Amino acid sequence: MTRIIIAGPRGKMGSEAIQLVNSTESFELVACIDRKNDGKTMRDVESLPDLDVPIYESVEECFQQIHADIFIDLTVPETGYIHTKAALKNHVRPVVGTSGFTTKQIEELTEVAKSEKVGGLIAPNFAVGAVLMMQFAQTASKYFPDVEIIEKHHDQKLDAPSGTAIKTAELISSVRSYKEQGHEAEKETLAGARGANSDGMRIHSLRLPGLVAHQEVIFGSSGQTLTIKHDSYNRESFMAGIKLAIEEVMKLDKLVYGLENILE
Ligand code: NAP
Repeated sequence: MTRIIIAGPRGKMGSEAIQLVNSTESFELVACIDRKNDGKTMRDVESLPDLDVPIYESVEECFQQIHADIFIDLTVPETGYIHTKAALKNHVRPVVGTSGFTTKQIEELTEVAKSEKVGGLIAPNFAVGAVLMMQFAQTASKYFPDVEIIEKHHDQKLDAPSGTAIKTAELISSVRSYKEQGHEAEKETLAGARGANSDGMRIHSLRLPGLVAHQEVIFGSSGQTLTIKHDSYNRESFMAGIKLAIEEVMKLDKLVYGLENILE
């Protein structure tokens, strides 16, 4: 039985992850981290399932009192970083869906995992289709150096651009010949009109109610465009990736960034 702690249980992703854990025979939910319900059990909180699972505010206290194999973080980057570091130091393998970590934070966590010899995974996108979209975009950018990324999310998302857009741009940059796109005399008459500049390519972030998580990578060349598009219509789309991550991190002894690195 894989013993699991979830941080952010009242959130949209957290509540979906609880369902995943509860519906998987080999998984057991043993505690939650929730800053608003310290000392209660899940059953005492109206929006949580009727389970006799303890809730902690302090991740350290939780790790001292509860034995667990896996720590799932679905909160916000500032707190998620502290949680993930504590999980690694307490040898509870982190599976992190929280997006918005800085490169420096990911490097620091990778070092902690290395010195503690603990496996873990941080994935800005757990949807398998999104991982394929990123890989296809990376391949296409070898032939089409002119590319713009449009990512679209619900209006409650805190970070922009999305972790997926940043990751896509990084993958493209690793194979694309550098190019500062657009006209050299281009001028924004309204600041931000051309989006964020990532290594010469542009990233545009849309935030609207009704959306979940969507991204288009549009390539242009003379007389043609190529669009690679992925849509997550609900948060169930991320759960197969989280399930796979829980199973795979049990075999790792280092921190891996990106779901693509554990697929296959
Ligand atoms: P959400 O509905 O806003 O849930 C966030 C949860 O975190 C809430 O329960 C919130 O509780 C808690 N939280 C906020 N600030 C906190 C803090 N300082 N300390 C402890 N808990 C805190 O957001 P969501 O849509 O579930 O997304 C959660 C994270 O997953 C985000 O970073 C999002 O970008 C990411 N995400 C990742 C994927 C992926 O595939 N990797 C997919 C979708 C979303 P309160 O009520 O106390 O604020």
